[in-house]
Amino acid sequence: MNNPIPWFQHSVRESLEAQKTSIAHGLDVLEAERRATEFGLNELEAVQRKSALRMLLAQFKDLLVMILIGAAIIAQILGEAQDTIAIVAIIILNAILGFTQEFRAERAMEALQALSTPLAKVRRAGQIQTLPAYQLVPGDIVLLEAGNFVPADLRILESFQLSIDESTLTGESLPVDKQTHSLSAESLPIADQKNMAFKGTMVTAGRAVGLIVRIGMNTELGRIAKLLKEEVEVRTPLQNRIAQFAKKLSLAVLGLCLLIFLSGLWRGVEPVLMFMTALSLAVAAIPEALPAVVTMSLALGARAMIRRNALIRKLPAVESLGSVTYICTDKTGTLTENRMSAQAFYLHHKSFASIPDAATQNPLWNSLLRAMTLNTDVSLNPDGSWQGDPTEIALVQAAHDQGLVKEDLEKASPRVAELPFSSERGMMSTVHQSQDRGFVITKGAPERVLPLCQDIMGPNGLEAIDQDVLLKAIDSMALEGFRVLAFAKRDLGLHPNHLELSEYEQNLTLIGLVGLIDPPRSEAKEAVRLCQSSGIKVVMITGDHPKTAQAIALKLGIAHSVSDEVMTGQQLLETTDEQLLAKVLDIRVYARAAPDQKIRIVKALQTKGEIVAMTGDGVNDAPALRRANVGVSMGKGGTDVAREASHVILLDDNFASIIEAVREGRKIYSNIRKFVRFALSGNSGEIWTLFLAPFLGLPIPLLPIHILWVNLVTDGLPGLALAMEPEEKNIMHEPPRHPEESVFALGLWQHSVWVGILTAALTLGVLAWAYHTGHAHWQSMAFTVLTLVQMAHVMAIRSETESTFSLGFTSNKYLLGAVLCTLALQMATLYIPSFNSIFKTAPLSLAELGLCLGVSSLVFFAVEIEKWFKRRRRVG
Ligand code: ATP
Repeated sequence: MNNPIPWFQHSVRESLEAQKTSIAHGLDVLEAERRATEFGLNELEAVQRKSALRMLLAQFKDLLVMILIGAAIIAQILGEAQDTIAIVAIIILNAILGFTQEFRAERAMEALQALSTPLAKVRRAGQIQTLPAYQLVPGDIVLLEAGNFVPADLRILESFQLSIDESTLTGESLPVDKQTHSLSAESLPIADQKNMAFKGTMVTAGRAVGLIVRIGMNTELGRIAKLLKEEVEVRTPLQNRIAQFAKKLSLAVLGLCLLIFLSGLWRGVEPVLMFMTALSLAVAAIPEALPAVVTMSLALGARAMIRRNALIRKLPAVESLGSVTYICTDKTGTLTENRMSAQAFYLHHKSFASIPDAATQNPLWNSLLRAMTLNTDVSLNPDGSWQGDPTEIALVQAAHDQGLVKEDLEKASPRVAELPFSSERGMMSTVHQSQDRGFVITKGAPERVLPLCQDIMGPNGLEAIDQDVLLKAIDSMALEGFRVLAFAKRDLGLHPNHLELSEYEQNLTLIGLVGLIDPPRSEAKEAVRLCQSSGIKVVMITGDHPKTAQAIALKLGIAHSVSDEVMTGQQLLETTDEQLLAKVLDIRVYARAAPDQKIRIVKALQTKGEIVAMTGDGVNDAPALRRANVGVSMGKGGTDVAREASHVILLDDNFASIIEAVREGRKIYSNIRKFVRFALSGNSGEIWTLFLAPFLGLPIPLLPIHILWVNLVTDGLPGLALAMEPEEKNIMHEPPRHPEESVFALGLWQHSVWVGILTAALTLGVLAWAYHTGHAHWQSMAFTVLTLVQMAHVMAIRSETESTFSLGFTSNKYLLGAVLCTLALQMATLYIPSFNSIFKTAPLSLAELGLCLGVSSLVFFAVEIEKWFKRRRRVG
């Protein structure tokens, strides 16, 4: 299918012939498969992923680890080989641990990215299918509409006011209007190829049918793909803060290790041993694992969110979700089911709750039902269900139930032109030509359609419009929660083609009104209540009528009384930024708001210091989604453009899923804090122990291998198992965390210091007692106490406030398993003879072991008392 002549020179027919396909049928499934094998996937070359080996080697790049390995080898030359082997073994284990964490984080991120592949609507074997864009092949017939990304390079076959933003390719930010005629120039720059659409550009308005002529790396985008290959790694604020903190702490630890080294030398300890001790302490106490663990927790958390129907596109969102204070949400489809049905009608000053029998016999009803059918872009699936916008499906279905067949009507009065729907216009028109005459049908928001009408249809011909009566009818329908649409028409006589497109929507005749009901989602009310109990305010922003919006807001508990502030798009337009700032915190509903007004609302709320989650599904929602702290787009109903701009995609378009994601975000953050608390307290315990010993006239408490071991068992399983801690019960009863709040706030670092000092006191206390009472195993005892203290501590910090007794010891099975496993390993170092020689330990007597266990458990009770004070303060 190589084509030496540029595609833009081909006519529509020639292009279809060259690709051996047709508009109505598309490719057959087998042919599409054959072409997929021949041409490959419609993908740009993947960004190079980090190889596992590179990740593993990176673990050894740390300067300190290298020095430690060097020192271990020197030690071997000077002394025993066993020491070296043991130290190197532990370093390798540490590296494997670090590698596993990083590897899992990386793969989890990749899996997330794979899930957000864009989709495209294609016609194959005569049927419209939605397929992942990478499966498309040359010759596929693609349907485009506003908000779509163009999935491959296309020759445009049919265009209805199509306009495309090609700034990704051309840098030109103004959208380009497209058409279908062939162009005769020899060569044309991309910007002038008006009958082509290019991969990666986006449809800003209108709709079109296109033929794929190039895919993957052969597209214009593919040609410049090399420029896009650089992957920018986005770090979350938390990752940044932790990385900075880890750096500072590392310097402090290095300083302390130097001090410990010098004080050892001063006391006459063998320099090599002292050097190894100080170095091991540095390796153990420098929190190099922290950034990786944070990334892993965030990435795995993001994966867990998929189960709650929130797909995280940008990692920082996991964190921001936890501190959201405002959720601004669309109504249709998010708070409501988007399953509309037509249940109210208004024709010639009379209201109806349903369509009367034999309505088609009545000229007024007949006009309305025909308009409801013809003025829609709905199509019938082979299984008998409808495909299209739910508002329009409801209209077509209602007419269909009266025996109107869309296909027949369209055959008799084919559509010859159209002015497509957009949220900004709030209406749409179609122009039809039957055998003897042409006519226009317009439907849309009553405020948009009524001013265009000069009269109304009555049983005996046209009548003058009584605006007051009509407005009352509209209001009363809207107050009951109906979405109200007005229908109008215009006869064009024999020759409909004498008018400009923009002239069609003039001098219309109103046919009537239709009210559509869209039931609120059953879970939405509870989700709104949950928001309120957790300090999050919910605001509804809708394109719908203010009364309709208010009725739904009252039903869901977003507004509590009719007097609750509702602002319309028009009022917003007339409000200055300063005036908006004064009111913005009180407004619960924005109605008839245009998507591009959302950004003003986000900005105003953010100026007030609020953290805003904003939902959106259309092209014009993109700036607000980008600007919001958490931009939320829709997986089912939304456009590609909105998805691309968002941080989170709701897979089920459901408001309740946002709250679930907030809940998960809060949990992830609180578990990260638990890990940080655990790791820092452990490190601080090791440092205090080694630092204080000489000042108390005690020998070096631990050998290098002991220090490395304690680090391994604490940073290892138990630390990771903390990330699996189930959510705390009042997680959704607390106000949102301030985003600027440090991870170390709320007493985290104070906790690490005092627990560290207590650890040192207990370890050194046991050591001093054993040393002075002539127990030969004083070092094994100190080593055991230091490890067991970590286990006691980890069991106590599973919640920042709740008692472990009320949480239950078994509620985190992973943690319980990790603790038992670590205990078993520690016993192995004491009681397995070959380990004794590696770890320089000796089996403790039962009394000695009992003492170690008893003393270590004091940390558990001490932390329980700390939490008791915290609970009391909270109640007070
Ligand atoms: P929400 O903002 O609550 O999600 P929405 O996105 O459905 O609502 P829009 O799609 O912007 O709101 O619709 C705005 C208004 O345009 C509707 O209230 C309705 O009056 C009108 N409208 C919606 N769909 C159509 C359509 N297919 N044809 C004509 N008019 C429509």
